[in-house]
Amino acid sequence: MDDSVQVKCSRCKSAFRERARRLQNGYSRQCPTCEVVVFFDEDSPDANIKSAMRTARRVRKELREAEAEFRPRTISRRGSARHATDDESVA
Ligand SMILES: [Zn+2]
Repeated sequence: MDDSVQVKCSRCKSAFRERARRLQNGYSRQCPTCEVVVFFDEDSPDANIKSAMRTARRVRKELREAEAEFRPRTISRRGSARHATDDESVA
């Protein structure tokens, strides 16, 4: 599953991709094209950032649900007490 979100730079208008897990309030990164520092905030006045934050939130939710779905149901238990029940007191 694609876990990256397209972000549009408000300065040079070029699009780049960033991992959804990173796109949280307070995160910042440089635009690979014009090297302006882009600040990510859900309350950003920049509509491009806001929509990227919304998309990232949705992708993270989908990732969590996908992980829950594909998690193996059989949890292997190690160090069971089964061996201790072997009859050792045959005196
Ligand atoms: Zn840019």
